[in-house]
Amino acid sequence: MTAPPLPAVRHVQTDILILGSGGAGLFAALHAHQRAPDLKITVAVKGLLGKCGCTRMVQGGYNVALAAGDSVERHFMDTIDGSKWLADQDLAWTLVSTAVERVRELENELGCFFDRNPDGSIHQKAFAGQTFDRTVHKGDLTGIEIINRLAEQVWARGIDRLEEHRAIELVKTPGGDALAGVLMIDMRSGGYVFVQARAVLLATGGGPTMYKYHTPSGDKSCDGLAMALRAGLPLRDMEMVQFHPTGLLAGSGTRMTGTVLEEGLRGAGGWLLNGAGDRFMSRYDERAERATRDIVSRSIYREMRDGRTTPNGGVWIQMHHLGADAVRRQFKGMVERCADCGFDLAGGRVEVVPTAHYMMGGVVFSPDARTPLPALFAAGEDTGGVHGANRLGGNGVANSTVFGGIAGDTMADWVRREGAFRAPDADAIAAAVARAEAPFALPRGDLESVREALYDSMWADVGILRTAGSLQRGLQRLDELDAQLSRTGVADADRAFHMGWHDWLNLKNLVAVSRVIAVSALAREDSRGAHFREDFPDTGALDTSHYIVVRQRGDALDLAREPVRFTRVTPGQTLLAAA
Ligand SMILES: Cc1cc2nc3c(=O)[nH]c(=O)nc-3n(C[C@H](O)[C@H](O)[C@H](O)COP(=O)(O)OP(=O)(O)OC[C@H]3O[C@@H](n4cnc5c(N)ncnc54)[C@H](O)[C@@H]3O)c2cc1C
Repeated sequence: MTAPPLPAVRHVQTDILILGSGGAGLFAALHAHQRAPDLKITVAVKGLLGKCGCTRMVQGGYNVALAAGDSVERHFMDTIDGSKWLADQDLAWTLVSTAVERVRELENELGCFFDRNPDGSIHQKAFAGQTFDRTVHKGDLTGIEIINRLAEQVWARGIDRLEEHRAIELVKTPGGDALAGVLMIDMRSGGYVFVQARAVLLATGGGPTMYKYHTPSGDKSCDGLAMALRAGLPLRDMEMVQFHPTGLLAGSGTRMTGTVLEEGLRGAGGWLLNGAGDRFMSRYDERAERATRDIVSRSIYREMRDGRTTPNGGVWIQMHHLGADAVRRQFKGMVERCADCGFDLAGGRVEVVPTAHYMMGGVVFSPDARTPLPALFAAGEDTGGVHGANRLGGNGVANSTVFGGIAGDTMADWVRREGAFRAPDADAIAAAVARAEAPFALPRGDLESVREALYDSMWADVGILRTAGSLQRGLQRLDELDAQLSRTGVADADRAFHMGWHDWLNLKNLVAVSRVIAVSALAREDSRGAHFREDFPDTGALDTSHYIVVRQRGDALDLAREPVRFTRVTPGQTLLAAA
């Protein structure tokens, strides 16, 4: 029997194509437009522009050294210490120094209103792991403020939008020496579109949604990282997955499970209690509940593993000893969110569990947002190297807006200088369409069970506490799940908003990226930041630190260890004395 012909692919052109409309994508669009208003700029996004992704979900705020007594050098040292000396120091320096101009741009050019002190200066609050209160915020809805203002500005300019367009493959030239464009699915019709572009930004925002409990938005399934992997690009620090210690645990029947109860609760004096009612954190760290995210997450996980759990299998957070009225006043949003799920945060106890929050790892890129593949640029949570082994709360949205803006500038200059339209490899487009079509030719199966198995395996074997044995078990399970997916089809029905099909594509990408996480975690035989090996609990020598780089070659993953270059400060030194 001959295979049915592949569906047609519509071709369109744009000078600059931006994948994703989070802080990185929208800032890139605005900067590219400002730098080169005559260029055709298109933002392609899996959801609706301004309504999807994680930047919109930012609660806590934005780190930037603004206040008297703080300094860019201090912010840098906090970032490097937080990274356990694995961060690329030039990227980290670019982050902290450019954040100062970026936050002014957000306020003065884009119209964001951040909370203020009585004297009119911007209010900055404390966040864990920082030696100065530097987190700029708009109540606990900072992300909505930032994304709404960015989206309005994008709408007001002549920037094109391809909404509900899902990127599925980075397509190179026939020789493979540069990117020619991106293959997408128009989710509204289910048709294929090839967007030929002179420069492309990868800004799809990572997102560890392969874990049983996770915080990122549902549109994120590591698509950008999986596409980069298939295109042979190097990914670094992929073993570094940050867990937020207090995700809401509201049972399995609600999407609210896994969503974040903010760090300020612990900061304000909240207690964590195990299922037996014991306040356990001081057994693990003298700072008790105020220890850093990684330590608190590990401690909770240990209590859970030892069986001292609440009815839904987590631990309790308790605030009422601080006074129920005070809690209601100070944490209005959190109190309401908990009430929606039947919990009384102010007067009772709420069940919580560590929840996968952020991927420090991603595509290797340079401070001007270039990747090793000419014509491909990257910014935001799709990139690696800015945060090393741990991201400070508040450095995530700074990262996406800082490097998004830089990417916009760089792409505009690149297009002017050397950005011709390049012919795509037609065979690569056909192969990518065939891959996406594969599930229609397979017998229908149960994707939900694959997803549940992925969640469980990543949580139990590649999660907060790891050993060689658990990681090998996880890798074997991932191979099985990949094979199971390759046998599991979806209904050959109307392609418009065919969510089963998109689920299949999501799971394929999540499994591929999960393998990179597991392989990197197996290779790192020490414990740093978010990565903890019970069989290698020591941090290892900081001055010979290395980071792990993974590339896909054929079906295999190639792994390399690269020495960290201490370009600005070496372990044991600080920039502060000189500042
Ligand atoms: C609940 C929550 C709270 C947070 N709070 C804070 C905080 O207080 N401070 C802080 O600094 N950071 C915080 N973060 C982290 C922060 O949100 C991220 O670091 C940052 O916003 C990522 O920005 P981004 O532009 O890279 O990605 P995102 O904002 O996630 O945007 C990604 C975009 O890519 C699109 N996309 C995905 N796949 C595709 C595809 N295949 N094709 C086309 N488009 C695609 C998505 O739809 C989306 O538009 C928080 C995260 C969460 C989840």
